[in-house]
Amino acid sequence: MIKEFMEQLKAKNPAQPEFIQAAQEVLDSLELVFKKNPKYMKYKILERITEPERVIMFRVSWLDDRGEIQVNRGYRIQFNSAIGPYKGGLRLHPSVTLGMLKFLAFEQVFKNSLTGLPMGGSKGGSDFDPKGKSDNEVMKFCQSLMSELFRHIGADTDVPAGDIGVGGREIGYMFGQYKKLVNRFEGVLTGKDPKWGGSLIRPEATGYGTVYFAANMLATKGKTMEGKTVAISGSGNVAQYATEKTLHLGGKPVTLSDSNGFIIDHAGITHEKLAWMMDLKNVRRGRISEYAEKYNCEYHEGFGLWKSGKYDVALPCATQNELDGEDARTLLANGCFCVAEGANMPSTPEAVEQFVKAGIFYGPGKAANAGGVATSGLEMSQNSLRLSWTREEVDQRLHGIMKWIHDQAYKAAEQYGTPGNYVNGANIAGFVKVADSMIEQGVV
Ligand code: NDP
Repeated sequence: MIKEFMEQLKAKNPAQPEFIQAAQEVLDSLELVFKKNPKYMKYKILERITEPERVIMFRVSWLDDRGEIQVNRGYRIQFNSAIGPYKGGLRLHPSVTLGMLKFLAFEQVFKNSLTGLPMGGSKGGSDFDPKGKSDNEVMKFCQSLMSELFRHIGADTDVPAGDIGVGGREIGYMFGQYKKLVNRFEGVLTGKDPKWGGSLIRPEATGYGTVYFAANMLATKGKTMEGKTVAISGSGNVAQYATEKTLHLGGKPVTLSDSNGFIIDHAGITHEKLAWMMDLKNVRRGRISEYAEKYNCEYHEGFGLWKSGKYDVALPCATQNELDGEDARTLLANGCFCVAEGANMPSTPEAVEQFVKAGIFYGPGKAANAGGVATSGLEMSQNSLRLSWTREEVDQRLHGIMKWIHDQAYKAAEQYGTPGNYVNGANIAGFVKVADSMIEQGVV
Protein backbone atom coordinates (compact mmCIF):
# COMPACT_ATOMS: atom_id res chain seq x y z
CA MET A 1 0.00 0.00 0.00
CA ILE A 2 2.74 2.49 1.01
CA LYS A 3 4.77 1.39 -2.03
CA GLU A 4 2.03 2.32 -4.50
CA PHE A 5 1.36 5.56 -2.69
CA MET A 6 5.06 6.50 -2.85
CA GLU A 7 5.08 5.89 -6.62
CA GLN A 8 2.22 8.37 -6.98
CA LEU A 9 3.94 10.88 -4.72
CA LYS A 10 7.15 10.68 -6.77
CA ALA A 11 5.24 11.19 -10.02
CA LYS A 12 3.42 14.16 -8.54
CA ASN A 13 6.57 15.79 -7.13
CA PRO A 14 9.35 15.27 -9.68
CA ALA A 15 12.78 16.74 -8.89
CA GLN A 16 12.09 16.96 -5.16
CA PRO A 17 14.42 14.20 -3.88
CA GLU A 18 14.73 15.46 -0.30
CA PHE A 19 10.96 15.68 0.10
CA ILE A 20 10.51 12.16 -1.28
CA GLN A 21 13.26 10.88 1.06
CA ALA A 22 11.59 12.47 4.11
CA ALA A 23 8.14 11.20 3.12
CA GLN A 24 9.45 7.67 2.50
CA GLU A 25 11.02 7.55 5.96
CA VAL A 26 7.86 8.67 7.71
CA LEU A 27 5.53 6.46 5.67
CA ASP A 28 7.69 3.35 6.19
CA SER A 29 7.10 3.76 9.93
CA LEU A 30 3.38 4.38 9.44
CA GLU A 31 2.67 1.07 7.71
CA LEU A 32 2.29 -0.40 11.23
CA VAL A 33 -0.22 2.30 12.22
CA PHE A 34 -2.31 1.97 9.06
CA LYS A 35 -2.63 -1.79 9.57
CA LYS A 36 -4.03 -1.24 13.07
CA ASN A 37 -6.22 1.79 12.21
CA PRO A 38 -8.01 1.56 8.85
CA LYS A 39 -9.72 4.92 9.52
CA TYR A 40 -6.63 6.72 8.26
CA MET A 41 -7.17 5.12 4.84
CA LYS A 42 -10.86 5.97 4.83
CA TYR A 43 -10.12 9.62 5.55
CA LYS A 44 -7.33 9.76 2.93
CA ILE A 45 -4.86 10.97 5.51
CA LEU A 46 -1.79 9.94 3.48
CA GLU A 47 -2.96 11.92 0.46
CA ARG A 48 -3.80 14.95 2.60
CA ILE A 49 -0.83 14.97 4.96
CA THR A 50 1.71 14.90 2.10
CA GLU A 51 0.14 17.88 0.33
CA PRO A 52 1.07 21.31 1.76
CA GLU A 53 -1.91 23.46 2.71
CA ARG A 54 -0.25 26.39 0.95
CA VAL A 55 2.98 27.16 -0.93
CA ILE A 56 4.07 30.77 -1.35
CA MET A 57 6.86 31.60 -3.79
CA PHE A 58 7.99 35.12 -4.52
CA ARG A 59 10.64 37.44 -5.96
CA VAL A 60 13.10 39.08 -3.57
CA SER A 61 14.96 41.94 -5.27
CA TRP A 62 17.45 44.16 -3.46
CA LEU A 63 20.37 46.52 -4.12
CA ASP A 64 23.90 45.38 -3.22
CA ASP A 65 26.66 47.68 -1.93
CA ARG A 66 27.71 48.56 -5.49
CA GLY A 67 24.18 49.65 -6.34
CA GLU A 68 23.61 46.55 -8.54
CA ILE A 69 20.19 44.91 -8.54
CA GLN A 70 20.17 41.36 -7.13
CA VAL A 71 17.26 38.94 -7.48
CA ASN A 72 16.59 35.92 -5.25
CA ARG A 73 13.62 33.63 -4.79
CA GLY A 74 11.71 33.50 -1.50
CA TYR A 75 9.47 30.70 -0.24
CA ARG A 76 7.12 29.84 2.59
CA ILE A 77 5.63 26.34 2.76
CA GLN A 78 2.64 26.28 5.12
CA PHE A 79 2.35 22.53 5.36
CA ASN A 80 -0.12 21.69 8.11
CA SER A 81 -2.08 23.73 10.66
CA ALA A 82 -4.20 20.95 12.21
CA ILE A 83 -2.83 21.41 15.74
CA GLY A 84 -1.80 25.09 15.81
CA PRO A 85 -0.48 28.07 13.84
CA TYR A 86 2.21 27.22 11.30
CA LYS A 87 5.68 27.26 12.85
CA GLY A 88 9.10 26.60 11.34
CA GLY A 89 12.40 28.22 10.42
CA LEU A 90 13.70 30.24 7.51
CA ARG A 91 16.82 28.98 5.71
CA LEU A 92 19.14 31.21 3.69
CA HIS A 93 21.51 29.09 1.61
CA PRO A 94 22.29 28.89 -2.12
CA SER A 95 21.12 25.25 -2.17
CA VAL A 96 17.55 26.16 -1.15
CA THR A 97 14.86 24.83 -3.50
CA LEU A 98 11.14 24.17 -3.25
CA GLY A 99 11.77 20.45 -2.70
CA MET A 100 14.27 21.06 0.09
CA LEU A 101 11.88 23.34 1.96
CA LYS A 102 9.03 20.87 1.46
CA PHE A 103 11.14 18.19 3.16
CA LEU A 104 11.90 20.52 6.05
CA ALA A 105 8.27 21.67 6.41
CA PHE A 106 7.00 18.07 6.27
CA GLU A 107 9.43 17.00 9.02
CA GLN A 108 8.43 20.05 11.02
CA VAL A 109 4.77 18.92 11.15
CA PHE A 110 5.67 15.73 13.06
CA LYS A 111 8.42 17.35 15.12
CA ASN A 112 6.14 20.11 16.35
CA SER A 113 3.46 17.59 17.21
CA LEU A 114 5.98 15.58 19.24
CA THR A 115 6.81 18.57 21.45
CA GLY A 116 3.28 18.44 22.89
CA LEU A 117 2.85 22.17 22.13
CA PRO A 118 0.13 23.57 19.84
CA MET A 119 2.16 24.27 16.69
CA GLY A 120 1.52 23.37 13.05
CA GLY A 121 4.39 22.90 10.59
CA SER A 122 5.95 25.22 8.03
CA LYS A 123 9.36 26.22 6.62
CA GLY A 124 10.67 28.91 4.34
CA GLY A 125 13.73 30.70 3.11
CA SER A 126 15.61 31.73 0.03
CA ASP A 127 18.54 30.82 -2.22
CA PHE A 128 20.31 33.98 -0.94
CA ASP A 129 23.86 33.28 0.29
CA PRO A 130 24.71 35.38 3.37
CA LYS A 131 28.39 34.35 3.13
CA GLY A 132 30.62 37.23 2.05
CA LYS A 133 27.77 39.77 2.23
CA SER A 134 28.08 42.96 4.28
CA ASP A 135 25.68 43.65 7.17
CA ASN A 136 24.07 46.29 4.97
CA GLU A 137 23.44 43.78 2.17
CA VAL A 138 22.01 41.22 4.60
CA MET A 139 19.69 43.93 5.97
CA LYS A 140 18.54 44.99 2.48
CA PHE A 141 17.83 41.39 1.57
CA CYS A 142 15.95 40.64 4.82
CA GLN A 143 13.82 43.77 4.41
CA SER A 144 12.93 42.87 0.85
CA LEU A 145 12.06 39.29 1.84
CA MET A 146 9.83 40.55 4.64
CA SER A 147 8.06 43.10 2.46
CA GLU A 148 6.33 40.15 0.78
CA LEU A 149 6.37 37.57 3.59
CA PHE A 150 4.66 39.86 6.12
CA ARG A 151 1.24 39.45 4.52
CA HIS A 152 1.31 35.65 4.96
CA ILE A 153 2.48 35.44 8.60
CA GLY A 154 1.36 36.67 12.04
CA ALA A 155 1.44 35.71 15.71
CA ASP A 156 -1.64 33.48 15.31
CA THR A 157 -1.07 32.49 11.65
CA ASP A 158 2.53 31.52 11.00
CA VAL A 159 5.57 32.22 13.17
CA PRO A 160 8.96 31.84 11.41
CA ALA A 161 12.29 31.32 13.20
CA GLY A 162 15.97 30.82 12.29
CA ASP A 163 17.65 27.92 10.49
CA ILE A 164 20.83 27.65 8.41
CA GLY A 165 22.03 31.18 7.60
CA VAL A 166 19.44 32.85 9.84
CA GLY A 167 20.58 33.85 13.33
CA GLY A 168 19.97 36.79 15.65
CA ARG A 169 21.14 39.39 13.12
CA GLU A 170 18.74 38.28 10.37
CA ILE A 171 15.80 37.83 12.77
CA GLY A 172 16.42 41.43 13.95
CA TYR A 173 16.31 42.88 10.44
CA MET A 174 13.19 40.88 9.55
CA PHE A 175 11.38 41.77 12.76
CA GLY A 176 12.16 45.48 12.28
CA GLN A 177 10.69 45.43 8.78
CA TYR A 178 7.62 43.42 9.85
CA LYS A 179 6.88 45.88 12.68
CA LYS A 180 7.22 48.83 10.34
CA LEU A 181 4.83 47.31 7.80
CA VAL A 182 2.05 46.18 10.15
CA ASN A 183 2.51 48.80 12.89
CA ARG A 184 2.18 46.15 15.59
CA PHE A 185 4.70 44.78 18.09
CA GLU A 186 3.80 41.10 18.21
CA GLY A 187 5.43 37.71 18.66
CA VAL A 188 5.64 37.00 14.95
CA LEU A 189 9.19 35.68 14.78
CA THR A 190 11.06 33.61 17.34
CA GLY A 191 14.77 33.74 18.04
CA LYS A 192 14.41 37.44 18.85
CA ASP A 193 16.87 39.18 21.13
CA PRO A 194 15.70 39.03 24.78
CA LYS A 195 15.75 42.87 24.89
CA TRP A 196 12.80 42.95 22.47
CA GLY A 197 10.74 39.86 23.18
CA GLY A 198 13.10 36.94 22.72
CA SER A 199 13.33 34.02 25.13
CA LEU A 200 16.43 33.28 27.12
CA ILE A 201 17.88 29.88 26.15
CA ARG A 202 16.36 29.99 22.60
CA PRO A 203 19.81 30.27 20.95
CA GLU A 204 21.04 27.34 23.06
CA ALA A 205 17.88 25.24 22.79
CA THR A 206 18.45 23.05 19.71
CA GLY A 207 22.00 22.07 20.66
CA TYR A 208 21.20 21.65 24.36
CA GLY A 209 18.07 19.66 23.51
CA THR A 210 20.01 17.30 21.22
CA VAL A 211 22.41 16.43 24.03
CA TYR A 212 19.53 16.08 26.53
CA PHE A 213 17.93 13.65 24.07
CA ALA A 214 21.16 11.64 23.80
CA ALA A 215 21.40 11.58 27.60
CA ASN A 216 17.79 10.36 27.84
CA MET A 217 18.48 7.52 25.41
CA LEU A 218 21.64 6.54 27.30
CA ALA A 219 19.76 6.62 30.62
CA THR A 220 17.40 3.83 29.45
CA LYS A 221 20.41 1.50 29.84
CA GLY A 222 21.91 3.24 32.87
CA LYS A 223 24.60 5.08 30.85
CA THR A 224 25.59 8.77 30.85
CA MET A 225 27.56 11.26 28.71
CA GLU A 226 30.30 11.39 31.37
CA GLY A 227 33.71 10.64 29.87
CA LYS A 228 32.38 9.90 26.36
CA THR A 229 34.33 11.04 23.30
CA VAL A 230 31.92 13.00 21.15
CA ALA A 231 32.17 13.85 17.44
CA ILE A 232 30.17 16.93 16.42
CA SER A 233 29.75 18.26 12.88
CA GLY A 234 28.99 21.86 11.93
CA SER A 235 30.13 24.95 13.80
CA GLY A 236 26.96 27.03 13.63
CA ASN A 237 24.21 27.59 16.15
CA VAL A 238 23.30 23.95 16.81
CA ALA A 239 26.88 22.63 16.88
CA GLN A 240 28.04 25.39 19.23
CA TYR A 241 25.50 24.67 21.94
CA ALA A 242 25.67 20.89 21.46
CA THR A 243 29.37 21.29 22.25
CA GLU A 244 28.62 23.39 25.33
CA LYS A 245 26.04 20.97 26.75
CA THR A 246 28.35 18.01 26.05
CA LEU A 247 30.93 19.76 28.25
CA HIS A 248 28.31 20.45 30.96
CA LEU A 249 27.47 16.73 31.08
CA GLY A 250 31.11 15.65 31.33
CA GLY A 251 31.61 14.52 27.71
CA LYS A 252 34.68 15.29 25.61
CA PRO A 253 33.86 17.01 22.28
CA VAL A 254 36.71 16.57 19.80
CA THR A 255 35.49 17.61 16.32
CA LEU A 256 33.76 20.50 14.52
CA SER A 257 33.34 21.32 10.83
CA ASP A 258 32.12 23.79 8.23
CA SER A 259 31.47 23.48 4.52
CA ASN A 260 35.22 23.58 3.79
CA GLY A 261 36.53 20.95 6.20
CA PHE A 262 36.79 19.68 9.79
CA ILE A 263 39.06 19.84 12.82
CA ILE A 264 39.99 17.08 15.26
CA ASP A 265 41.19 18.35 18.62
CA HIS A 266 42.39 15.25 20.46
CA ALA A 267 42.98 17.27 23.63
CA GLY A 268 39.27 18.12 23.65
CA ILE A 269 37.36 21.32 22.92
CA THR A 270 37.19 23.22 26.21
CA HIS A 271 34.84 26.07 27.25
CA GLU A 272 37.62 28.53 26.49
CA LYS A 273 38.27 27.14 22.98
CA LEU A 274 34.52 27.04 22.33
CA ALA A 275 34.17 30.73 23.28
CA TRP A 276 36.98 31.58 20.84
CA MET A 277 35.32 29.52 18.10
CA MET A 278 31.93 31.17 18.70
CA ASP A 279 33.51 34.59 18.28
CA LEU A 280 35.23 33.33 15.11
CA LYS A 281 31.96 32.08 13.61
CA ASN A 282 29.38 34.54 14.97
CA VAL A 283 31.32 37.81 15.00
CA ARG A 284 34.38 37.54 12.75
CA ARG A 285 32.57 35.10 10.40
CA GLY A 286 35.76 33.11 9.76
CA ARG A 287 36.47 29.48 8.79
CA ILE A 288 36.93 26.47 11.09
CA SER A 289 40.46 25.96 9.68
CA GLU A 290 41.46 29.00 11.78
CA TYR A 291 40.64 26.99 14.94
CA ALA A 292 43.27 24.41 13.92
CA GLU A 293 45.85 27.17 13.39
CA LYS A 294 45.05 28.76 16.75
CA TYR A 295 45.01 25.54 18.79
CA ASN A 296 47.51 23.56 16.76
CA CYS A 297 45.27 20.56 16.03
CA GLU A 298 44.37 18.48 12.95
CA TYR A 299 42.46 20.06 10.06
CA HIS A 300 41.22 18.15 7.01
CA GLU A 301 39.55 19.54 3.92
CA GLY A 302 36.22 17.99 2.85
CA PHE A 303 33.62 15.78 4.49
CA GLY A 304 35.54 12.84 6.02
CA LEU A 305 34.65 13.69 9.63
CA TRP A 306 32.65 10.55 10.42
CA LYS A 307 35.46 8.29 9.19
CA SER A 308 38.21 10.19 10.98
CA GLY A 309 38.53 8.37 14.32
CA LYS A 310 36.96 6.45 17.21
CA TYR A 311 33.98 8.20 18.75
CA ASP A 312 31.51 6.95 21.39
CA VAL A 313 28.81 9.44 20.47
CA ALA A 314 28.11 11.24 17.17
CA LEU A 315 26.09 14.45 16.94
CA PRO A 316 25.58 15.48 13.30
CA CYS A 317 24.69 19.20 13.52
CA ALA A 318 25.48 20.61 10.05
CA THR A 319 23.06 19.70 7.24
CA GLN A 320 20.95 17.06 5.49
CA ASN A 321 22.55 13.88 4.11
CA GLU A 322 25.97 14.67 5.59
CA LEU A 323 26.41 11.13 6.98
CA ASP A 324 26.12 8.26 4.47
CA GLY A 325 26.04 4.46 4.67
CA GLU A 326 29.81 4.12 4.60
CA ASP A 327 30.18 6.74 7.35
CA ALA A 328 27.65 4.82 9.46
CA ARG A 329 29.48 1.51 8.95
CA THR A 330 32.78 3.15 9.95
CA LEU A 331 31.28 4.80 13.04
CA LEU A 332 29.77 1.47 14.13
CA ALA A 333 32.97 -0.48 13.42
CA ASN A 334 34.83 2.07 15.57
CA GLY A 335 32.51 1.46 18.51
CA CYS A 336 30.08 4.38 18.24
CA PHE A 337 26.95 3.47 20.22
CA CYS A 338 24.91 6.69 20.26
CA VAL A 339 23.88 9.05 17.46
CA ALA A 340 21.62 12.04 18.14
CA GLU A 341 20.80 14.30 15.21
CA GLY A 342 21.00 18.05 15.81
CA ALA A 343 20.57 18.69 12.08
CA ASN A 344 17.47 17.78 10.06
CA MET A 345 17.81 14.45 8.21
CA PRO A 346 21.65 14.42 8.37
CA SER A 347 21.80 10.63 7.91
CA THR A 348 21.01 9.12 4.51
CA PRO A 349 18.42 6.28 4.42
CA GLU A 350 21.26 3.75 4.17
CA ALA A 351 22.94 5.22 7.26
CA VAL A 352 19.66 5.16 9.21
CA GLU A 353 19.18 1.52 8.26
CA GLN A 354 22.68 0.69 9.56
CA PHE A 355 22.05 2.41 12.90
CA VAL A 356 18.64 0.81 13.41
CA LYS A 357 19.93 -2.64 12.42
CA ALA A 358 22.86 -2.32 14.81
CA GLY A 359 20.41 -1.50 17.63
CA ILE A 360 22.45 1.46 18.90
CA PHE A 361 20.86 4.51 20.52
CA TYR A 362 19.78 6.43 17.42
CA GLY A 363 17.76 9.63 17.88
CA PRO A 364 16.40 10.97 14.56
CA GLY A 365 16.39 14.75 14.06
CA LYS A 366 12.67 15.21 14.35
CA ALA A 367 12.86 14.05 17.95
CA ALA A 368 16.43 14.90 18.95
CA ASN A 369 16.51 18.47 17.62
CA ALA A 370 12.94 19.43 18.60
CA GLY A 371 14.23 21.45 21.56
CA GLY A 372 14.70 24.46 19.28
CA VAL A 373 11.12 24.68 18.12
CA ALA A 374 9.84 23.74 21.58
CA THR A 375 11.66 26.74 23.05
CA SER A 376 10.29 28.86 20.21
CA GLY A 377 6.89 27.69 21.45
CA LEU A 378 7.90 28.91 24.91
CA GLU A 379 8.94 32.24 23.38
CA MET A 380 5.45 32.52 21.82
CA SER A 381 3.87 31.82 25.22
CA GLN A 382 6.00 34.50 26.90
CA ASN A 383 5.10 37.00 24.15
CA SER A 384 1.38 36.28 24.59
CA LEU A 385 1.68 36.61 28.36
CA ARG A 386 3.89 39.73 28.04
CA LEU A 387 6.30 38.04 30.46
CA SER A 388 9.92 36.88 30.41
CA TRP A 389 10.93 33.73 32.18
CA THR A 390 14.41 33.30 33.69
CA ARG A 391 17.16 31.20 32.08
CA GLU A 392 16.68 28.52 34.74
CA GLU A 393 12.94 28.40 34.18
CA VAL A 394 13.24 28.02 30.38
CA ASP A 395 16.07 25.49 30.63
CA GLN A 396 14.05 23.45 33.11
CA ARG A 397 11.05 23.44 30.76
CA LEU A 398 13.31 22.49 27.81
CA HIS A 399 14.73 19.65 29.87
CA GLY A 400 11.21 18.46 30.70
CA ILE A 401 10.05 18.71 27.07
CA MET A 402 13.03 16.70 25.78
CA LYS A 403 12.25 13.98 28.33
CA TRP A 404 8.59 14.03 27.24
CA ILE A 405 9.57 13.75 23.55
CA HIS A 406 11.97 10.92 24.34
CA ASP A 407 9.34 9.05 26.35
CA GLN A 408 6.62 9.53 23.71
CA ALA A 409 8.88 8.12 21.00
CA TYR A 410 10.11 5.32 23.25
CA LYS A 411 6.58 4.26 24.22
CA ALA A 412 5.18 4.45 20.68
CA ALA A 413 8.06 2.27 19.44
CA GLU A 414 7.22 -0.32 22.10
CA GLN A 415 3.47 -0.11 21.51
CA TYR A 416 3.95 -0.89 17.80
CA GLY A 417 6.28 -3.81 18.42
CA THR A 418 9.64 -2.19 17.57
CA PRO A 419 11.19 -1.41 20.98
CA GLY A 420 14.21 0.90 20.94
CA ASN A 421 13.43 2.10 17.38
CA TYR A 422 13.15 5.86 17.86
CA VAL A 423 12.60 6.38 14.10
CA ASN A 424 9.31 4.49 14.22
CA GLY A 425 8.48 5.89 17.65
CA ALA A 426 8.95 9.54 16.68
CA ASN A 427 7.13 9.21 13.37
CA ILE A 428 4.18 7.37 14.91
CA ALA A 429 3.79 9.57 18.00
CA GLY A 430 4.05 12.73 15.87
CA PHE A 431 1.63 11.44 13.21
CA VAL A 432 -1.26 10.18 15.34
CA LYS A 433 -2.03 13.55 16.97
CA VAL A 434 -1.98 15.44 13.65
CA ALA A 435 -3.97 12.80 11.76
CA ASP A 436 -6.68 12.54 14.43
CA SER A 437 -6.97 16.35 14.55
CA MET A 438 -7.37 16.45 10.76
CA ILE A 439 -10.17 13.88 10.93
CA GLU A 440 -11.95 15.82 13.69
CA GLN A 441 -11.75 19.08 11.70
CA GLY A 442 -13.45 17.63 8.61
CA VAL A 443 -12.46 17.69 4.97
CA VAL A 444 -10.84 21.10 4.56
P1 NDP B 1 24.02 27.56 10.97
O1 NDP B 1 23.89 28.28 9.69
O2 NDP B 1 24.20 28.30 12.23
O3 NDP B 1 25.24 26.50 10.88
C1 NDP B 1 25.28 25.51 9.89
C2 NDP B 1 26.60 24.80 9.97
O4 NDP B 1 26.59 23.70 9.09
C3 NDP B 1 27.77 25.67 9.55
O5 NDP B 1 28.93 25.24 10.21
C4 NDP B 1 27.87 25.38 8.05
O6 NDP B 1 29.13 25.62 7.49
C5 NDP B 1 27.54 23.90 8.02
N1 NDP B 1 26.91 23.59 6.73
C6 NDP B 1 25.77 24.12 6.22
N2 NDP B 1 25.50 23.60 5.03
C7 NDP B 1 26.50 22.73 4.76
C8 NDP B 1 26.78 21.88 3.70
N3 NDP B 1 25.99 21.82 2.61
N4 NDP B 1 27.87 21.09 3.79
C9 NDP B 1 28.69 21.14 4.88
N5 NDP B 1 28.47 21.93 5.93
C10 NDP B 1 27.39 22.71 5.87
O7 NDP B 1 22.74 26.59 11.04
P2 NDP B 1 22.11 25.85 12.30
O8 NDP B 1 23.19 25.45 13.24
O9 NDP B 1 20.98 26.66 12.78
O10 NDP B 1 21.47 24.56 11.61
C11 NDP B 1 22.20 23.33 11.45
C12 NDP B 1 21.23 22.19 11.23
O11 NDP B 1 20.33 22.11 12.34
C13 NDP B 1 20.32 22.31 9.99
O12 NDP B 1 20.06 21.03 9.48
C14 NDP B 1 19.04 22.90 10.56
O13 NDP B 1 17.91 22.61 9.76
C15 NDP B 1 18.98 22.14 11.89
N6 NDP B 1 18.14 22.74 12.90
C16 NDP B 1 18.37 24.01 13.35
C17 NDP B 1 17.56 24.55 14.34
C18 NDP B 1 17.84 25.87 14.94
O14 NDP B 1 17.20 26.19 15.96
N7 NDP B 1 18.75 26.67 14.44
C19 NDP B 1 16.39 23.80 14.86
C20 NDP B 1 16.31 22.43 14.39
C21 NDP B 1 17.14 21.96 13.43
P3 NDP B 1 29.42 26.99 6.68
O15 NDP B 1 29.51 28.05 7.73
O16 NDP B 1 30.68 26.75 5.94
O17 NDP B 1 28.24 27.18 5.76
